[in-house]
Amino acid sequence: MSARLSTNDLEAYWMPFTANRQYKKAPRLLVSAERTHYTSDDGRRILDGTSGLWCVDAGHCRPKIIEAIRAQVGELDFAGSFQIGHPKAFECASKLVNIAPPGFDHVFFTNSGSESVETALKMAIAYHRAKGNATKVRLIGRERGYHGVNFGGTSVGGIANNRKMFGPLLSGVDHIRHTHDLSRNAFSRGEPEHGAELADDLERLVALHDASTIAAVIVEPVACSTGVLIPPKGYLKRLAAICAKHDILLIFDEVITAFGRLGTPFGADYFGVFPDLITTAKGLTNGTVPMGAVLVKKEVHEAFMQGPEDVIDFFHGYTYSGHPVSCAAAIGTLETYKEEGLLTRAAELAPIGRKASTRSKGCPHILDIRNIGLIGAIELEPIPGEPSKRAYNAFVEASTEALLVRSTGDIIAMSPPLIIEKQEIDQLIDILSGVLKAAA
Ligand code: PMP
Repeated sequence: MSARLSTNDLEAYWMPFTANRQYKKAPRLLVSAERTHYTSDDGRRILDGTSGLWCVDAGHCRPKIIEAIRAQVGELDFAGSFQIGHPKAFECASKLVNIAPPGFDHVFFTNSGSESVETALKMAIAYHRAKGNATKVRLIGRERGYHGVNFGGTSVGGIANNRKMFGPLLSGVDHIRHTHDLSRNAFSRGEPEHGAELADDLERLVALHDASTIAAVIVEPVACSTGVLIPPKGYLKRLAAICAKHDILLIFDEVITAFGRLGTPFGADYFGVFPDLITTAKGLTNGTVPMGAVLVKKEVHEAFMQGPEDVIDFFHGYTYSGHPVSCAAAIGTLETYKEEGLLTRAAELAPIGRKASTRSKGCPHILDIRNIGLIGAIELEPIPGEPSKRAYNAFVEASTEALLVRSTGDIIAMSPPLIIEKQEIDQLIDILSGVLKAAA
């Protein structure tokens, strides 16, 4: 038992997405953080190979962001978000528009990635209604997609474990197939060449449901939470073309890929494919306080401004939409990204990460090693009858060896802060390789 927690404290907290029974036998606790490292309750410095949960892009406890939060909470702690505003929300929206891909002129604030997804899905349905197409209500997700845990996001998401406990979920939802196929596309052999035609799966659903019933398609440009699934060359472009042909809105869920993770401000910039709505969260405030945002293309916003009265104001929002403290944190974060060139730094680090990854090539049971921007993944051979065990054990062992990585299924994912130095990347891969060799 941890020296810092009483038995009562340990019992009271039902941790999310955690095997609580196992965890509480051997709790792992982090008590402080600075730049690329955490400190654990037993005083070990732990290299943060995952930017917290894919969110602390500028590294931990950055002074400008801390100061912005401190100053704001002492000056204006809360201001309602309905019918009345405050200047920081407008400034923050405008700063986001400045780094957004061309044409994304409007911002709707939320408090998390899940809320950004719900907002975008509702906005898509309401958009078609505003344009007089009230039958366009179906939502299409993709297998192995992760879009948060609210009912809309769980419904369009494509992860059986996240869905199976919760009944039939939203009606009117369907899924296109995922693109992950190691037999044709192992990333170790280079950027996926095969599979652009998988975008045509959307045509199959259009034939089945008719375009007049479909509002939107939501995909992550790179599906990160389910194992860093990099899209085949040409796939996203083809998907966007099919959406445009059938007047279906395309939503990119960029909760992870936004804010420089791929070496460009947004994943859309990296792939040169631009959707109609972009969902964000996480890196928006560098993980400091909860906040999300949906970036909205001009044409979508205009439909609301010109549509019939009953949809004109998009009756949706949260008490804490554009919260002053979150906005101050986001402004401090966006300024830090800009001052330190972090929105493009992953492009410089990507070759270093790719080279470092080759150090783990000799490890046993590796099926594939993938890198894109400053994201890495190692896919391991599953142990028959014990799915996910190898990667989960590697996560536990790595944390003992002072490295934080993510395990998802049989895949280990890495996404260190964008301020990481070359020798820390080498160190990350060396620790992980050591863990994988020792496990064998
Ligand atoms: N969408 C994507 C692509 C995500 O990766 C996540 C979080 N990992 C979410 C949505 C949900 O975000 P949150 O946990 O902030 O609700």
